[in-house]
This record gives sequence, C-alpha cells and structure tokens, in this order.
Amino acid sequence: MIIISKSIVEKLSASRPGFLDAVESSGSRSKSGHHVLEPDRWESLLDNFDARAEFLGEAEPMSAVEAGKHFAEAMIDLTKAGKKIAPEDVFQTRLTICLGCQYWNPRMWLGLGGCRICKCSKFALWLAKSKCPLPVPKWLSYEARQTPKLG
Ligand code: SF4
Repeated sequence: MIIISKSIVEKLSASRPGFLDAVESSGSRSKSGHHVLEPDRWESLLDNFDARAEFLGEAEPMSAVEAGKHFAEAMIDLTKAGKKIAPEDVFQTRLTICLGCQYWNPRMWLGLGGCRICKCSKFALWLAKSKCPLPVPKWLSYEARQTPKLG
C-alpha cells in the first residue's frame, strides 16, 4: 500500500469529476485523512483520469512561503535530532536511490526536489529516522539499520 496526500488528491480532483470517488472506492483513509491504496491501483487511476502528467510534474507546486516553512521545520528537526543525523555516505546513497525513483520530483520545493509520496524534501534524507514510505521501502531508516538482530 502507499499513502497519497489528501491535498494531492484534492488538487487532481478539481478538474476531474469522479476522480475523488474512484480514489475513495479504491482504498481507505489514514487517521490523518490521507488516501491509502495499492500502488498498481493508483497508477491505473492516474492513467484512467489522464492525471499522470499533472501528478508527476505539478501536483505539489510550492510557494516560497511554504517552502521556507518546510525548510525551517526541517532544520529544527535536524537540530532536535542531534546525533541522529545520518552519515554523509548514507545520505548520498539515499539521494542516489531517490533520484532514480519514479516518485522523485525534481521540481518540488522550489527545485530542491522531493518525494511525491511522503512530500519530504531532500533535507529529510539527512535524518537518521527517515525511511522510504513505500510498502517495500527502497531504503530504511539509519536507526533500523543499526538495530542488531536478536537470536
Ligand atoms: S523516498 Fe522512496 S518513494 Fe520517495 S522518492 Fe525516495 S525512493 Fe522514491
């Protein structure tokens, strides 16, 4: 399952009658109201409603104010994280994976780039606790990687 931000679905629904109903009937809602559905189902909805181009390119246009707020929150997160910042080689590995992923949008966050699924910017890749939001994550949190296996 993947989680698609409710704001993205609302935006795509604005010019596509029936899109919201189709998304609703294809999955469920998270506690925060975001949409949870199978990746294949989401992909077919994008095609059926001719929404792929908008989703891939312009689903999350970000104003300078919004981007600034996000960056400020990201920096606070980094500060609070203290020693829980991922090493640079981990950041670079994550970035390489994300840059090659179909869900990476280089135009999000005023060109900084971000994930279309979790809406995180490149800053989040520095956090040890971050992890890819896909059901089968393409990369794990650094903390999880450090957890020794029992037995
Ligand atoms: S966080 Fe995961 S889903 Fe998002 S762009 Fe990176 S690899 Fe893709």
